Amino acid sequence: MGNLKHYYEALKNGDVFFDEYRKSALIMNAVTILHIVFAIFFWATGVTIMGVYNVAIVVAYQGILMLIKKKKTYLAYVLTCIEVVVHAVLATLFVGFSSGFQVYCVAMIAVSCYITFVWECFKKGTRETLLFSLFSMFGYFVCYVLSLYCEPIKPVHEIAQTIMYIVNALFMFIIIFCFMMLLFWDINHRSDRLAAKNNQLDEMSKKDPLTKLYNRRYMNYELNRRMSYLIGEGRLFGLIMADIDNFKTVNDTYGHDAGDDVLIAVANEFTKALRGDDCVCRWGGEEFLVVINGNHQVTSDVAERIRKRVEDLTIETNGHQIKVTMTFGVSESIPGLRMERLIQIADERLYKGKQGGKNCVVKE
Ligand code: GH3
Ligand code: MG
Ligand code: MG
Repeated sequence: MGNLKHYYEALKNGDVFFDEYRKSALIMNAVTILHIVFAIFFWATGVTIMGVYNVAIVVAYQGILMLIKKKKTYLAYVLTCIEVVVHAVLATLFVGFSSGFQVYCVAMIAVSCYITFVWECFKKGTRETLLFSLFSMFGYFVCYVLSLYCEPIKPVHEIAQTIMYIVNALFMFIIIFCFMMLLFWDINHRSDRLAAKNNQLDEMSKKDPLTKLYNRRYMNYELNRRMSYLIGEGRLFGLIMADIDNFKTVNDTYGHDAGDDVLIAVANEFTKALRGDDCVCRWGGEEFLVVINGNHQVTSDVAERIRKRVEDLTIETNGHQIKVTMTFGVSESIPGLRMERLIQIADERLYKGKQGGKNCVVKE
């Protein structure tokens, strides 16, 4: 029972366990059981030929399953459709239209929708869905026309016929319901997977692959947002332009990989030092731009806090212990000034800091 629940959950969640072959095997096993039921029924009612036919079909379906295993799925499904129609026609000829075996032609439309959507060989083609559905419909009307002109070869008792009709109609509803549910789960699962992939891509397009900080492109969007808050609600913000001092020497002394490790470690210090509503990005090679939710004093304090953290940091890489410092230029949001100008001011102050001996925060 627990196993059954596991299968049910796996099927529902589109688990990888249920690949194309396993799904097909499940369907073929269900079809086999259905034909065993038919075989027993035909034997019991004395329609021996149909009984023998159904036993042969049970074997034939194992062959169809082999075809699926060998990836000949298209052929496998065509044979299945033909079998359903042939079975409906033969059953109508032997036990009459009132026994209801033609209803499986109707159920085949739901099955075809599912199969053509899920099996790769059909490439979700609606053309195939239409062709299989038309073929099933054709089978249904052949049964009907035959019933108009031919008497059943082996008529069964009226009660047996009624039971047959009810059982067949019941199976038809169950098949349609099950395949619609399977289709629904499959679509749900695919759209969930797509949404997760989209999120992942979206996240990747915003981030710098080395430091995992936001990239310049995303920061430009964030800066525009802050600017509209300033204009709309008067919400102040500050900018910090920060640059690692003598980074070229780090690369030259310890190698480019060690330089990368330094960048990652410094980026982590920014992340740790900032609050959730602040935003930091890797603006360029060893340059970082931070936007702070607050006035000039708050921004300058944050810059000083980060400067101290970086100064105290020791980066261990490749057996070396590396220490670096950073210089910071701070600017405040002044209504009326464009964002480009605010960035330029922070940049000019950073340059001033570099000229003045580095490892400092310049706020005016
Ligand atoms: P200053 O104190 O004036 O900023 O000097 P600096 O040496 O830090 O600045 P400079 O502009 O001369 O050198 C920056 C170096 O940063 C040069 C470049 O190779 C290196 N760099 C840029 N991006 C990366 C990166 O992704 N990884 C590594 N390892 N180095 C990088
Ligand atoms: Mg530098
Ligand atoms: Mg630089």
